[in-house]
Order: sequence, then structure tokens, then C-alpha cells
Amino acid sequence: MALQFYNTFTQKKELFKPIEKNSATMYNCGPTVYNYAHIGNFRAYICSDILKRYLLYKGFAVKQVMNITDVDDKTIRDSQKEGLSLHEFTEKYTIAFFEDLEKLNISKAYVFPRATQHIHGMIHLTQKLLDNEIAYQARDGIYFSISKFRNYGKLSKIKLDETKTGVRVKNDEYDKENAQDFALWKFWTEKDGDCVWESPFGKGRPGWHIECSVMAMQHLAEHFDIHTGGIDLIFPHHENEIAQSEAVTGKKFVNYWLHNEYILVNGKKMSKSLGNFFTLRDLLIQGYKARAIRYLLLSSHYRQQLNFTLQGIDAAEKVIEKFDIFFASLDEVKNLNNTVENNEIAAIIENAQKQFEEAMDDDLEISQGLAVIFEFIRRINVLASENKVGKKNAVDITDFMKKIDSVLGVMHTEESAMPREIIMLAEERERVRKKKDFATSDKLRKEIISKGYILDDTNTGYRLRKKRDENLVLQDSHSK
Ligand code: AMP
Ligand code: ZN
Repeated sequence: MALQFYNTFTQKKELFKPIEKNSATMYNCGPTVYNYAHIGNFRAYICSDILKRYLLYKGFAVKQVMNITDVDDKTIRDSQKEGLSLHEFTEKYTIAFFEDLEKLNISKAYVFPRATQHIHGMIHLTQKLLDNEIAYQARDGIYFSISKFRNYGKLSKIKLDETKTGVRVKNDEYDKENAQDFALWKFWTEKDGDCVWESPFGKGRPGWHIECSVMAMQHLAEHFDIHTGGIDLIFPHHENEIAQSEAVTGKKFVNYWLHNEYILVNGKKMSKSLGNFFTLRDLLIQGYKARAIRYLLLSSHYRQQLNFTLQGIDAAEKVIEKFDIFFASLDEVKNLNNTVENNEIAAIIENAQKQFEEAMDDDLEISQGLAVIFEFIRRINVLASENKVGKKNAVDITDFMKKIDSVLGVMHTEESAMPREIIMLAEERERVRKKKDFATSDKLRKEIISKGYILDDTNTGYRLRKKRDENLVLQDSHSK
């Protein structure tokens, strides 16, 4: 199967045909830096990271742009609450965002443009829309007239309400029921304080939607391949991006629109406004591993809702350990002095790779892809327990797993792997336990605990994990 994605625009899966052969241009709506990004936001960035990594895996050259929204209604409001300049305030959260991306092993975009560094381009685009008479000046700003753009609503499939023609909305965020003329440029009011730029049509600041049109066109092109974001961005943000860009260029703005579903907490969207959010920082302080959080966020299909629980991270930690133990056991085989060479293994790898790619080619069906990898690990473990995995086989298996991990980004990172010493102790304990030497087994378990790890016995063997606060309860988190 060739690579295909579900395109929100056409509401069906489509073969991916890039504008330029073997390359992909992609814009991801990035964070509004008025607080620490929460786990829900990071689902969006992990989805775009998996997409980018898979495109690279498939041999595409990827040019990825992710913006930083450092001026909008919320950043202005909250910087004033904190008594900081807009720049000081947003810089703090921008730096925190980059730190979190690194912890979650989210690969860096080609560029992370900041909105405040593109004001000139926003003024320029607004001027062009005024010149084309698609925008008009009102008392409090410059507005985009949605009735002047043919097919406004083509992405979100909203129907325009004729009775609302000419009704305006100044806020950056509003809902589908209120499709209205939206602000491109907001004239300065006292509430904006120092946040102001000069423009030919009067001092003020840009609306949120025009920021992304300008940064995408400047850093990619007027027409590019892929645009992503959470489903809440389909309307009005992405609808407005299309209108502003296409009204000026006359070209199709984006070929493939990919939108991720929400992370929920107790059935409700995780969001700053509901206060039911967790930041990465909260969870790391509680002792959860960034790798497990990454795994949890990537392990279900991006178009499915995901209910976030701390038990979910616990389960993800077990999977991560499974990977670590698998790599450690492969290392052991590599260090063994055996002469085994199992010809069967090349075919097992080839088959797993084919199945993994089939799943991922089908709109990034990652849960199926992961199931293929778990079955692969299980089969190799069986063969290893029968001494049917040789040194060269172990090298080939490791190479294959690393290739898969170039997409997943959760395995075998040197610093986070389960220490070899702990695995050896656990293996030794398993050996003596099978011989019913429970005194030695208890001694070894205590030694593991004293080194900061916990060993649980399960139906299928043992499970190792790092010790942390076990009494943690799920609670709402307010990081500011
Ligand atoms: P914001 O900083 O609010 O503009 O959001 C940044 C990104 O996170 C956008 O793509 C949103 O659609 C996405 N997002 C926000 N909340 C959630 C959530 N609960 N689950 C998944 N994605 C979300
Ligand atoms: Zn955007």
C-alpha cells in the first residue's frame, strides 16, 4: 500500500502526492505561549512529530515549520496580569516549550517562527486584502469580509448565515455557530498597553489567524503539502487561514489537512480554560518518565480521542521497560560466545517491517504498527529462550528496532535504558526462583529495591520499574 492520509478537507483518505517529488512541506500550528503547554497540546506536537518522522523514514525530505504564537488576546491579557512586558512573558514560556519538546524527544522543526517577528508581513497581507476589497476598515480594526471569499467554509463545511453578513467578531477565538467577519488588524485600545505596532491603517496589532497565513507562506510557500493542528483549529483558525491566503494568492493554500483528536480527562477535553490539565513538568516531578508519556501520547491513532489517566502512564512505563529489557537481552546475545546463526530471522524481520509499513501507510495506524512490533518481540524472545538467536541475528534485530524507533522515538535512548546491572540482578533472581531458592531470591529483590527499582512478578515473568511516589492521585493541575 502506498502512503495515504485522511484529509479533513475532502473528508476521505487520499494517496500522498507531494508537490515536489520525494519532498514534503509541512506547517504545524504551534503553541500560544501564555502558559506551560499541557499534555493535550503535546498530543498535537507528538502527532506531527510521528508524521514527520514517518515521512523521513519513507525517504521524503521534510521541511517542517512550527510557529510560536507570542501575540494574541491571551498573551496580552496574561502578560499584563503578571506585570511583565509581552516579550519577557512569552519568552519564558517559549523557552519552557523548547525544553519540554526536548524531554519528549520531539524532533526540532526546520524553523520555529515567532509571530512578533513577522508583523511586517501581516501588515503587508492585510494591505493586499484591503486593496482587493476583501477586507474593510471598521471603527475598531480591519476585518475580512467572509461573504467576499467564494467557498468560505470549505474546510469546516459550515454554511454561511446570510443574516449575519457584515457582522463582526474581534476576538481571536469564536465558535462555528458564529461565522462572522474576523479581525485582521485590531486598532490599539488602552487594554493593549505597550503591545502596539505602527501600520499604514493605524497603530494596533494583528489578529491571530493572519499570523499563521503569513508565517506559513513566508517559510514554506504560497502552496504547500501538509498543515496540521488539533480539531479545535479547523474552525475558525484554519478556515480563516485558507480564506486570507487564497484571497490574495489565488492559489490553493494546502493540499492535505490533518487534525488530531483530543486528549480527554474524565470525558472532557483537557484544556487550560477547564483547569483539568497536566503539564509535562507536573508529571516529571511526580516521577513519571518522559519516554512513557511520549509513548502514551503516540500509542493510539491520532484521529481517536484518548482518555488521559495516570494509570495510562503506568501501563506505558511497562511497555517502555519491555523495550529496554528486549534491547538488554539482545546485548547479552551479542556478548555471548555462541555460533548460532538462524536463517529464519531475516524473513521474520522482513515480514515485521512490511506489516509495520502497511499499518503506518494507512493514515498512520500506529496501534496496528505497534501490535506488529510486540508480536515481533514475542517471537524473538521465544527463539532466544530456545537459544536460536545468534550474534549476527542480534545485530540485525537491533538495527531493525532502531529503524522502527526512528519513527517512534521511545526506545533505547542511552540515558533512560534500564541499567544493565539491575537487569542482571533480576535475571539472576528469576533463575534462583525457578530453582525454588527463595532466600537468595528475596535477597536479590531487596538489592534491586535498595538501588531504586521495583521488581514485580507477573504471569509471564518479572517486571522492572523505577521507584517513585506510589501515593500519587489524579488531581487537577494548575501550573502557574
Ligand atoms: P493552543 O496553544 O491552545 O493554540 O493549542 C496548541 C495545539 O494543541 C493546537 O493544535 C490545539 O488544537 C491542540 N490541543 C489543545 N488542547 C488539546 C487536547 N485536549 N487534546 C489534543 N490537542 C489539543
Ligand atoms: Zn495556526
